Amino acid sequence: MDKNFKEEFTQIIKFEPPLYKQRHQFVKDLVEKYKPKKVADLGCADCSLLWMLKFCSCIEVLAGLDICANVMKEKMHTLSPLPVDYLQPSERSLTVTLHHGSVAHKDPCMLGFDLVTCIELIEHLEESELKKFPEVVFGFMAPSIVVISTPNSEFNCLLPRVMLYRHPDHKFEWSQAEFQSWALETARCYDYSVEFTGVGHPPTGMEKVGFCTQIGVFFRKYPQTRESVQSEKPMEAVYKTVFKAVYPSLKDEKYLQNAVINEVIFTAQIIKHRLMSKREEYSDDPERKSKFQPSMDCFSDYLGKVVVEKSMEPFVSGNEVYIPLTTIFSFPKVNRLCGSFEKLCKLIAGKVTLSSDGSAVMFNIEHENEEN
Ligand code: SAH
Repeated sequence: MDKNFKEEFTQIIKFEPPLYKQRHQFVKDLVEKYKPKKVADLGCADCSLLWMLKFCSCIEVLAGLDICANVMKEKMHTLSPLPVDYLQPSERSLTVTLHHGSVAHKDPCMLGFDLVTCIELIEHLEESELKKFPEVVFGFMAPSIVVISTPNSEFNCLLPRVMLYRHPDHKFEWSQAEFQSWALETARCYDYSVEFTGVGHPPTGMEKVGFCTQIGVFFRKYPQTRESVQSEKPMEAVYKTVFKAVYPSLKDEKYLQNAVINEVIFTAQIIKHRLMSKREEYSDDPERKSKFQPSMDCFSDYLGKVVVEKSMEPFVSGNEVYIPLTTIFSFPKVNRLCGSFEKLCKLIAGKVTLSSDGSAVMFNIEHENEEN
């Protein structure tokens, strides 16, 4: 390489966004493309990739593994649900678990994953660990997709401060040919295909050095059924679980019930409010009042488009306002939450005041009348 050329670049190479963010974004894009439900990040360190992935709505199970418990514990609180997650539970379920252990050991908690990520992990492995790693990840865990990233040593000549390796804990750094030959052999052994790519583009004129971070994306070539995973002989757990968070989800009946009750009361209040305003409008004119018929038109703007039958109309009787459950059920949000009318009735039974026949939400407006 031309020495002047090299020196020119060693002064200016700075990745924007930073390289670690580009690696994490690469994984996120992959998740958005293949929509795995269960993702494990091996060598998860400070959990920053896991944190980013918890916002991917396709993921229902996230697991992290690291040999260093302290580095995981530093920021693991960021993986806990926030108050807003309880106030507005999501429709998907999500469980996040962190394990303390080594990728050189098999543990049954690592079975059944769709995607396994190993971002800047393998270069930290001792020779003996690196030898066991393919059997653990590709043979035992056997997910549909594995992503492995590692430094490309050919790029190091452009990084001014790198003497031998980019990090003091690196046990090796591979050239493109070394990584590709290891990856191809691993893929061949375990019946995977592999595609090579990377992040951190080399400067113009230096394309030959390749990406700063080289990445192999492995795809399992054979289909794996759940049964074949479960038929693995029972084995002992060797990892220690250091963190587990189960996010509130509408799939859990208790959160669904709360959400439905809130939505039913909110919807009924809107209908009642519209009905009462309309009524007031008519009350000044005795002739119009006698003709007053509550109409769904008055709140149809809340519905988008809903076809309402006469029997669904709310009505006032004495000091009570009745909002038929069929009307409430026709509101898209209530409808989507409950799925069926029977489910709506079941979820609100005993939790919302209903008419004696149970067909309508009932409000007493006695005090409201007094205030007016
Ligand atoms: N994946 C992270 C950081 C990688 S640094 C990121 O994308 O930023 C490598 C991590 O691998 C370290 O946290 C280290 O503790 C962990 N590690 C090293 N050897 C390991 C092993 N045998 N099993 C599991 N994790 C290991």
